[in-house]
Amino acid sequence: MKTEIINVTYENLNMELIKKAGLVIRQGGLVAFPTETVYGLGGDGLNPDSSKKIYQAKGRPSDNPLIIHIADFDALAPIVADIPEKALLLARKFWPGPLTMVFERSEIVPVETTGGLNTIAVRMPSDAIALAFIREAGGYVAAPSANRSGRPSPTSSKYVVEDMNGRIDMILDGGEESQIGIESTILDMTTQPPCILRPGYITKAMLEEEIGTVETDQTIFSNRSDLSPKAPGMKYRHYAPKGTMVLLEGKKEAVIEYINNETDKKLEQGFSVGIIGTDETMNAYTAGFIKSVGKRTDERMIARRLYLILREFDDENIQYIYSESFEGDGIGQAIMNRLLKAAGHSVIKLP
Ligand code: AMP
Ligand code: MG
Repeated sequence: MKTEIINVTYENLNMELIKKAGLVIRQGGLVAFPTETVYGLGGDGLNPDSSKKIYQAKGRPSDNPLIIHIADFDALAPIVADIPEKALLLARKFWPGPLTMVFERSEIVPVETTGGLNTIAVRMPSDAIALAFIREAGGYVAAPSANRSGRPSPTSSKYVVEDMNGRIDMILDGGEESQIGIESTILDMTTQPPCILRPGYITKAMLEEEIGTVETDQTIFSNRSDLSPKAPGMKYRHYAPKGTMVLLEGKKEAVIEYINNETDKKLEQGFSVGIIGTDETMNAYTAGFIKSVGKRTDERMIARRLYLILREFDDENIQYIYSESFEGDGIGQAIMNRLLKAAGHSVIKLP
């Protein structure tokens, strides 16, 4: 399949091009598009064949449901069985934006889109290209992240092209890196209290300020295979670079010393080594391909740069990656969740 790559700019939205992309979706094709979180791989969410094509293009297991993207609040009611009061409050506050809510689905949503579930995940992105495209596409764009299954989500069109060229009909290139850089927070609205299934840019504290108590699915940070996450996608090794990745936990000095020693050993054995550090520690590393994700206190920047760095390690054919750890209740939780997945839960705790 030939993939048409179309450049669109935010300053001057070319509606002719957006219409063309929308038509591809309405005719059952697939289009990758920018959002503020990461690039999405879109198909018609109400067309079962489109959803099947998405799974094929990604190489994604078909029990891993897609998120339906809408552009207007009125589009929500037809695809869900009901809209809880708390969901209304959250939509008013956080939509459009990086929050996905899970509802009971209505009859018009095909099970192919929901991975066989009776629930449906819905998000309204804030990205201007995404919103215009969704409207032109008929209002319901099912989309997972636009990466091959298991790889880090793409935050720039370059990596969408790398993963999807030849596999989908069209790529809308927004020309800029994604503003947020990690996937949306997923909140299950079908339970009482609502439950965070995937942490993200919208934190537990931000949600609780609007609707009171919110729980967090405990499988998010656990490696126990007997616990099954409620967001099916979270069970797969995910967001992963090609190299073997290890996370280090412990005091700053101990982490730096460990990483420097391991790096020397691996380099001596002829392997390539990447290091994920921070602005505060960058200069303390002595060898390897050293990258800073940003200032430790600036979690937004870290979230934004994380996937880019994992992809850059792949570009450099890095075989071993050592990373500092992050903590906290805020976006740090989302960052750590993605790092744990990328590392396949390989963590070394230093005394
Ligand atoms: P992606 O957009 O690539 O991050 O994939 C969508 C994510 O949403 C996956 O982790 C899915 O497991 C999750 N998801 C989609 N629909 C549902 C649902 N109905 N219930 C729980 N999780 C869902
Ligand atoms: Mg994904």
